Amino acid sequence: GKVLVSGANGYIAVWVVRTLLEEGYSVRGAVRSADKGKHLTELFASYGDKFELVVVPDITQDGAFDEAVKGVDAIEHTASPFHFQADEPAELIEPALKGTVGILESARKYGPSVKRVVVTSSCAAALNISTEPQLLSELDWNNQAVKEVEEKGRAASAASKYRTSKVLAERAAWDFVQKYKDEIGWDVSVMNPPLVVGPIIHDIASVDALNTSAHMMYNAFTKPGGAAGGGCWIDVRDLALAHVRALQKEEAGGERMIIAAGAFAWQDWLDAAPTSSKYQKGTPGAGKDMVHLLRYKNEKGIRILGMQYHSMEDTAAAVIADYEARG
Ligand code: NDP
Repeated sequence: GKVLVSGANGYIAVWVVRTLLEEGYSVRGAVRSADKGKHLTELFASYGDKFELVVVPDITQDGAFDEAVKGVDAIEHTASPFHFQADEPAELIEPALKGTVGILESARKYGPSVKRVVVTSSCAAALNISTEPQLLSELDWNNQAVKEVEEKGRAASAASKYRTSKVLAERAAWDFVQKYKDEIGWDVSVMNPPLVVGPIIHDIASVDALNTSAHMMYNAFTKPGGAAGGGCWIDVRDLALAHVRALQKEEAGGERMIIAAGAFAWQDWLDAAPTSSKYQKGTPGAGKDMVHLLRYKNEKGIRILGMQYHSMEDTAAAVIADYEARG
């Protein structure tokens, strides 16, 4: 089958494309400009015409994906801004929401062969901030961030603006399938990962150009005091495989799935790094005392997709090997 991957040059998406190709699929990668596709063409040259590019300059335009969806059997929609620099909430919300609804609308109109659409949402769409430790699941929705953005607009926190973009986009996807369920020949499967870490195979011009989550990991290993705090994580290679399995497992249709390995303190990553690592060591063991306010149930994704997640040591080793290979 042929799979359309939106935002194909992104951190997660390049791993999704690679995993799809390894599993025998043909891939059409959508990027914003031909230039952004160059690295992909080189990276996947050995796959010949099993990898092709399509340029979708502006995902917020009506009908942006109309051509891109033609002839594909499935869609992996990953394109969405993930950064904490937005001034106006709309900078994040518009592409997240319109991109998601737009690709579904194009699939409805021009994708008669489409069987499934996988949408990359986030734990950001499920989490809530509390002073008490919480264990969240697929039943949870982040109404808190949406409310904050509604009330405060551009004065809302950067995190809340991003999280709102993910809530609204994911909700819109579920609403769309509900509305058109009698008409469309496909269903939706949603991936909700926490912070995505692990080796990088997408094109980055410099450390400053690192995507948000990989930049956080890099700071932990290189910036003085950069290993404060923590979160929950998934290895990018596992998340990519989950995206592919979501196409392969019938039962993944109509499901929202948290794809998470566990909680971490950034110090834990420093501790998990190979002893040969030349990067900073922080205060070994200090992460063990951290109270994790947010944890996620991950049984559903593991059960439905048959996942086995990398250990922190495996992921840390791959990250350090990646840094060392880049010098
Ligand atoms: P990247 O920044 O590496 O990739 C984002 C991709 O989306 C790029 O292809 C980018 O294109 C595209 N994109 C961003 N903004 C726009 C826009 N306005 N119009 C069109 N395309 C756009 O980030 P990730 O790979 O980390 O993120 C991919 C997805 O995963 C996103 O949906 C994100 O919300 C989600 N996610 C990520 C997590 C993480 O920790 N990394 C955690 C949970 C969810 P371009 O290069 O042209 O800007």
